[in-house]
Amino acid sequence: MMKSRRDVIKSPHKKNNLTISRPLSRLNKPSVLTATTSTSRANIKVVVRVRPSNTKESGDNHRVVVKVVDENVLIFDPKENAEPFFYHGVQQKTRDLLRKTQKDLQFTFHRVFDVHVQNAEVFDHSTKPLINSLMDGINCSVFAYGATGAGKTYTMLGNPSNPGITFLTMEQLFHTKEELSADRDFQLGITYLEVYNEIVQDLLNPGSTLTLREDSKFGVVVAGIKYVEIKSANELYTLLEQGNKNRTQHPTDANSESSRSHAVFQVYLKMKFKVTGEIRMAKLSMIDLAGSERGSATGFQGARFVEGANINKSLLALGNCINSLADSQRHVPYRDSKLTRLLKDSLGGNCQTVMIANVSPSSLSYEDTYNTLRYATRAKAIKSSIKRNV
Ligand code: ADP
Ligand code: MG
Repeated sequence: MMKSRRDVIKSPHKKNNLTISRPLSRLNKPSVLTATTSTSRANIKVVVRVRPSNTKESGDNHRVVVKVVDENVLIFDPKENAEPFFYHGVQQKTRDLLRKTQKDLQFTFHRVFDVHVQNAEVFDHSTKPLINSLMDGINCSVFAYGATGAGKTYTMLGNPSNPGITFLTMEQLFHTKEELSADRDFQLGITYLEVYNEIVQDLLNPGSTLTLREDSKFGVVVAGIKYVEIKSANELYTLLEQGNKNRTQHPTDANSESSRSHAVFQVYLKMKFKVTGEIRMAKLSMIDLAGSERGSATGFQGARFVEGANINKSLLALGNCINSLADSQRHVPYRDSKLTRLLKDSLGGNCQTVMIANVSPSSLSYEDTYNTLRYATRAKAIKSSIKRNV
């Protein structure tokens, strides 16, 4: 739907194609014709959020298996368990044995958010920096990954008194838009869809099934989707809430149906510079993914997932794309699912990605948490080819 940020044109002077490189600062400089170099660098930020224990997890039928060490490090299944009550009544010999079998694995991420951290702080250290990239015409995508009940929707949508990062990101986007309004005109529209059982449905226009088309000029196009132009972040919260109610099952019901749908919120940004008339476009995609519990059973160990009848195809395809991007393979299997086809222009390549891995702190979600941490570790390895002016 959006044009690529860079238009490759034939140079009359050189054999090679050149790229019109847009200025990376916010200043309204005219585009310059330069050759570019490609550098390979990580262009994904992976953060982990640990949600507070719930009432089911507060008795002595469980123990805490995630210990946040600092802003970047956590320990999964620590030997020195933070919850000594778990050992109450347990003999010293058994305690020692239990400690021996504990994994005590240290994981490092770009940021780790402990249980007391609010949505506003998650926003500050995850999606807030994306706004400058969008202003530079770079497509950005944000994924909330994790098992059902791990806190994905709480992080993305939140609630009216504690709005999630989708709202906070949009609020910041409108703020930046105001700041730059002397410099450029903005057109900003949103879409909100769901991928459920490989069917794409419009969450802002319930009942309509959408098709994805490849367009030679605009790439992947969602035919017939309702596109809403919005003027303020306040208009947005109502739309988001409304859209969430239209999900195949209400997302707060932790049932098997709701956990299979991906909610994809997309923002299309068109900027026109007042002096030069230059047009710059960017797209932001924020995705509340389906619960990872089914797909995670096979884990991530470099092997490709085997697709089973009950496994969420789009979630597995996303995992396989992440694997391919992490291994710097030439072929990335975007075409394998609806979700990855939709996000082809927003994942890998010249895009910024934020992965928010959500986990429960409790041993009741031991396998899910372990698999999510491994998935998130894998995602950290994605490299992108970033073109910079020489
Ligand atoms: P998911 O979308 O991953 O299935 P939810 O976001 O619906 O999970 O979270 C499950 C439950 O835990 C909800 O009742 C939610 O309000 C609560 N919850 C999740 N994360 C937090 C948090 N960081 N702080 C407080 N409550 C949370
Ligand atoms: Mg949810």
